[in-house]
Amino acid sequence: MSHTIDLRSDTVTRPTEAMRRAMAAAEVGDDVYAEDPTVSRLETLSADMLGMEAGLFVPSGTQGNLAALMAHCERGDEYIVGHNAHTYQFEGGGAAVLGSIQPQPVPLDDQGCMDLDAAMAAIKPDDAHFARTRLLCLENTWWGRALPMAYLKGAEDKARSHGLAMHLDGARLFNAAVAHDCPAADITRHFDSVSFCLSKGLGAPVGSVVCGNRALIDRARRWRKVLGGGMRQAGIIAAAGIHALEHHVARLAEDHQRAERLAAGLEAIDGLRVFRTGTNMLMLEPRVVTGTALAEALAGEGIRVNPGARLRLVTHLDVDDADIERVIAVMPRLLDSLASSEHAT
Ligand SMILES: *Cc1c(COP(=O)(O)O)cnc(C)c1O
Repeated sequence: MSHTIDLRSDTVTRPTEAMRRAMAAAEVGDDVYAEDPTVSRLETLSADMLGMEAGLFVPSGTQGNLAALMAHCERGDEYIVGHNAHTYQFEGGGAAVLGSIQPQPVPLDDQGCMDLDAAMAAIKPDDAHFARTRLLCLENTWWGRALPMAYLKGAEDKARSHGLAMHLDGARLFNAAVAHDCPAADITRHFDSVSFCLSKGLGAPVGSVVCGNRALIDRARRWRKVLGGGMRQAGIIAAAGIHALEHHVARLAEDHQRAERLAAGLEAIDGLRVFRTGTNMLMLEPRVVTGTALAEALAGEGIRVNPGARLRLVTHLDVDDADIERVIAVMPRLLDSLASSEHAT
């Protein structure tokens, strides 16, 4: 049988041979003593690419967002955030649990945008009854969608006029930059802090980087230690991050093209609703059979997808053109046999 095609997430990529060589050759030191030259190089490279002063290497995007939120906000402060944003829904409530920071969720539309007037209306008055609203937190890409540039500008203008700082959960920042065909710095210039993942489409095994001005990153560095993220000879994994930033950014366009090809191929098949995002993700809703049944049938063919009523399919470094064609090719047969077995019961 042919190899497994894993479309669950872009986190599943394995380091390439060249990346492993860079890791093996990395010069290292104890980064808690600020003596790992490879970690420092990754932090500087990241900050430069984002047009920011300083960077901080962290083990995960979740920790990067939390350390940034804690660097912006104190106990009793709050951040405004989308109702289904990662920093609200998918990080175990970390800001509240560990930071004593209250999230103020606001609805996002199907493009990942909030009504900015409604968001500003959620800012609390300066009064002991209320948490202090400090920060607006956006996410880009959001469920695979690159936020419109004009929206970022509008959000920044409004937030600044109300004295709020801006944080970007840019787990897939470079996918957004590639989708807009612009440098990442064109996106990040609207923010005071940005966290992005090396471990997703960029193909590194571990790690994220938080960037911002030096004072903010110093505070985040302190919180990283408190959160257990002070790592020692981390240059071994930082080297993978440097390799990813130097070799795997432009190629994200290939992932986006493969997601487009997959979407086009699947749209032509009866019984499927396809939702494109413009980056490396698409959602799939079977019309007659359940998403769970289809995910199971795909697994039987060695094709893994994130299950649910709406299946999520993600392209990445370890998915090639032949894989995409195989997924499109097996689909009609799977849907037919599922539909007929449903009919029989
Ligand atoms: C993956 C992801 C994160 C967190 O990254 P981890 O490294 O898995 O902790 C944060 N935000 C978004 C939008 C993500 O997709």
